[in-house]
Amino acid sequence: MVQSHLLQNLCGYIDGQWVGAAASKTFEVCNPATGDLLAVLPNLGAPDTRAAVVAADRAWRDFPSLETREGWLMAIHDALLREKQELARIITLEQGKPLKESLVEVDYSAGFFKFFASQIHNLAPSPLGEKIRGASWTVHHRPAGAVGLITPWNFPLAMLAKKFPAALAAGCGIVTKPADLTPLTTIALWHILDGLKLPPGVANLVIGDAAPIGDVLCTHPAVRLISFTGSTEVGRTLIKTTAPHIKRLSLELGGNAPYIVMDDADLTAAADALMANKFRCAGQTCVCANRILVHAAVADRFASEMARRVSALRVGNGMDASTEIGPLINRAAVEKVARHVEDAMACGAKRVAQASVDASLTGTFYPPTLLDHLAEGSAMQQEETFGPIVAIRRFETEAEAVALANSTIYGLAAYLFTADVSRIERMSRQLSFGHVAVNTGTGPTPEAPFGGMKQSGYGREGGIEGLLEYCEPQTVVVA
Ligand code: NAP
Repeated sequence: MVQSHLLQNLCGYIDGQWVGAAASKTFEVCNPATGDLLAVLPNLGAPDTRAAVVAADRAWRDFPSLETREGWLMAIHDALLREKQELARIITLEQGKPLKESLVEVDYSAGFFKFFASQIHNLAPSPLGEKIRGASWTVHHRPAGAVGLITPWNFPLAMLAKKFPAALAAGCGIVTKPADLTPLTTIALWHILDGLKLPPGVANLVIGDAAPIGDVLCTHPAVRLISFTGSTEVGRTLIKTTAPHIKRLSLELGGNAPYIVMDDADLTAAADALMANKFRCAGQTCVCANRILVHAAVADRFASEMARRVSALRVGNGMDASTEIGPLINRAAVEKVARHVEDAMACGAKRVAQASVDASLTGTFYPPTLLDHLAEGSAMQQEETFGPIVAIRRFETEAEAVALANSTIYGLAAYLFTADVSRIERMSRQLSFGHVAVNTGTGPTPEAPFGGMKQSGYGREGGIEGLLEYCEPQTVVVA
């Protein structure tokens, strides 16, 4: 079982109190690298979620000044950095990613607290300069109200850090529900919040089965907005369940990112960037390249650059300093990746390289694999693989590359490698993705808005747009 000074209370947190420690219904959290049991947690249900919503609804109505909220955000930022090693250890234990990636995740998360603290002055009332119809007009940014924040398992801290500080900055009362596979990092964050003595009700945490918790968040009249990061399938359920209640939704859903390598690209740079982009978190990120589209004229050379790199990857327990790739999150994830590889090979793809997985590893590992000659009709073309597979699909023309890239229901992230400046302008305009990275595999940053087009969702996180998601503009006209 995991021991940590940030996990002394293994339960939820409602209205300033740890709750549910004695609950009879429980669920287990296990380490995907070893299968070891990390914790047994209470399964909080609808009544606790309703209590959390009531507390959050009371709290936002009595929120303090912008300056106080800015102070809270910076205090949390500082505490995250103080507890960086311990938070990273907990992320790796429950999620499996290499410790060095978890350390980066803590830094990245802290960055959102700092950024939204720096933007909070934008929420001050803004008077229109001139009198209109003889009256003074002022635009206020009121808090959205009580909000539900639902997060996935791949970045247990970062996915919440994109939402929580923006909601707090805006003055909302918060109810968070983390993924059941990785709730310990969120509980650790609540130990930090508890130590900072935020007013009761401001930040509430419920853990347990998604359906009853989600149902309360979707239907309770006090919840004004739900911000959700997860699969497109669950996003659709939230849209349906909230529709009769007309709630605001911010949806960060699935991705199926194209990674386009043109014939004039720097192939070494494109291969290096793909390794970092594709294998982070063992390929389980919404922004990681899923469809590798390579111009036929350079595809053989690119495949051999990648083969060398993929074969050399070191797979292991994320707590070992030499590990570059950890396990997948669970057995179902391994089965999905194996199914995608079998399907691709049945459609004609060839396995070019594969890293080895030591037989002593008992967790849910899948060997990083390079496939070439991916064919039309393969499942990987349409579904997120969410695993350490690079599958190269060849194309002949720029128009074909754009058409292939856009031939998906998703529109989250896309990558393009080319040396041609006019092509960069032309192709980035044609790509229907919220994030287009050119000659780099980099993902989002706190300072810029990030979110999806098409069925990757709506709403933005990061940037001033990510703060305004949690505000209700209200115009007050005084005659
Ligand atoms: P998921 O199955 O959709 O779950 C996400 C969260 O929703 C979890 O907390 C889950 O709880 C909860 N949930 C499930 N059913 C619910 C319901 N009926 N009502 C309310 N909440 C419900 O997704 P995942 O497997 O954790 O994450 C992987 C997916 O997230 C991928 O598709 C990935 O692309 C996407 N993602 C998107 C972004 C982005 O920025 N767009 C970022 C990261 C990940 P339980 O764990 O208890 O089931």
